[in-house]
Amino acid sequence: MAPARALALAFLALPAAALAQAAPSGKAGATEVTWYGHAAFVIRTPGGTVLAVDPWLSNPKTPDPDAVQKLEKVDYVLVTHGHFDHVGDAVALAKRTGAKLVASFDLGQALIAAGYPKEQAGFDTLGNVGGRIAAGDATVILVPAIHSSGFADEKGTTHPGGSPMGFVIQVKGGPTLYHTGDTDVTLDMKQIPERYGKVDVMFACIGGHFTMDPKGAALASSYVKPGVVVPMHYGTFPVLTGTPDELKAALKGGARVQVLEPGKPVKF
Ligand SMILES: [Zn+2]
Repeated sequence: MAPARALALAFLALPAAALAQAAPSGKAGATEVTWYGHAAFVIRTPGGTVLAVDPWLSNPKTPDPDAVQKLEKVDYVLVTHGHFDHVGDAVALAKRTGAKLVASFDLGQALIAAGYPKEQAGFDTLGNVGGRIAAGDATVILVPAIHSSGFADEKGTTHPGGSPMGFVIQVKGGPTLYHTGDTDVTLDMKQIPERYGKVDVMFACIGGHFTMDPKGAALASSYVKPGVVVPMHYGTFPVLTGTPDELKAALKGGARVQVLEPGKPVKF
């Protein structure tokens, strides 16, 4: 375990209280999203493509600490940036499932060095901001985030992880999802609906300290104009103090806030 990771884990908060809200009713052919806590989501498209985003599946809010050993099928692992709370269990998941890596080219090289199977991390799925990656019946667009992206290996040596990113995931015949990654609100976010069309669901970090806080996320939502905002990256560590209630108060109408319960799939 890297010292940075050990340090962070030592200061983990208790798992947050259940934060479930009523999930939307299932739709035939809908896209299923399961939150695993923090910034980790597993997305199943109508065509059967499975994408795992920022798969720290063993995080303190996880509904199943052994999820990395249990997921039957993962086609693509998407990692926004190099920090441990986003890379998470990517390498173990890739070895088990054969999933290809969608990430910055630089982070891809760092993860290959850390054991990510090289044949699953090639030019077809590694890219950089502005790129569009074909991922089954989804297209993943790599968009800017303002953050840092060093990747600390098991010895604690930090490697460059390239540009931190967010992901716009356009599902064929389904919703457009936007995972902000770790970022502050940026004016660049105004371009997302202009260039990539209506965002149905925005997964927005709200914890503050390392990212935007609820007020920042509300401003970001006013730029992106999604139908639904799903808060993430809060409550995992004591410093991530932003709450969904603060987000709701800051939004003052506009997008609907939907708080996911870890482990409970919802359909969009
Ligand atoms: Zn983070």
